[in-house]
Amino acid sequence: MTRISELEKVLSEARNSGRKVGLVPTMGALHQGHLSLIKQARSQSDFVVCSVFVNPTQFNNPNDLETYPRQLEQDIALLEPHGCDLVFAPDRTEVYPRGETVSPEDYGKLTQVLEAAHRPGHFDGVIAVVRRLFEMVQPDLAFFGEKDFQQLAVIRELGRREFTALQIVGCPLIRSEKGLALSSRNALMSDAERTRALILYSTLQAAAVRCSHEPPAAVVAWAEQQLAKAEGVLPEYFSLSHQDSLAPVTQWTSGTQAVLLVAANVGPVRLIDNTKFVFA
Ligand code: AMP
Repeated sequence: MTRISELEKVLSEARNSGRKVGLVPTMGALHQGHLSLIKQARSQSDFVVCSVFVNPTQFNNPNDLETYPRQLEQDIALLEPHGCDLVFAPDRTEVYPRGETVSPEDYGKLTQVLEAAHRPGHFDGVIAVVRRLFEMVQPDLAFFGEKDFQQLAVIRELGRREFTALQIVGCPLIRSEKGLALSSRNALMSDAERTRALILYSTLQAAAVRCSHEPPAAVVAWAEQQLAKAEGVLPEYFSLSHQDSLAPVTQWTSGTQAVLLVAANVGPVRLIDNTKFVFA
């Protein structure tokens, strides 16, 4: 389904019969990470909508937008047997009837650090499209992956500010057997590049172990060094942050809810990954 008018008709029928609507926003080229969100949505809502829309306003790199994998037919075929009731795949004019210029958003540190600092305008586009999807679908619940940890924090803030009745549900990060965080962009890497990319997760894991006996700054310095010397990997950042504010962790206190976050380029692809833990 591509039109808002059709969407509204089906959704009002679902709502009139008392069904709770769950939304899973995606950019398509679906994998097990996306399907885990559908499964979660299925378990918590009565009518599951999956949107598939490659949102141009969140791409700060035109080449990334151009090469982003697109496979709508295959996605639809995957979604149906996984318990999705409706696939909404609008075109660009349906989502942005007044043009694709989006307003800058200020969510404090959340829209300044890490991804925001390295991808100017990225979260302006994310907020614009998610706000628009929330307005179109008016879901009771919306499901987002912890794979995009900062995005989830930004969307929780969007919910607090503008959609107070909506429940935002964070879902666990899904990895390949070897530990690579699943991502639609992984398909753009060669086998050798996917193997190189495993350094991201192994560094996150080893850094998390070091956190039990080393100061935060030492852990970050060690991880940066590991990534800097990895062949074929161009690191952008490695950060040890508080889970809610994403402010850097500067010292250990028992109960600190921490997250290690990394971004790096491997071959043609920019990858992000993270691991969260509580300091004992
Ligand atoms: P995308 O299609 O990449 O925009 O992702 C759509 C949704 O799926 C977002 O909420 C992502 O965080 C989530 N997602 C993508 N990859 C994964 C993964 N490996 N594990 C869990 N959730 C994911």
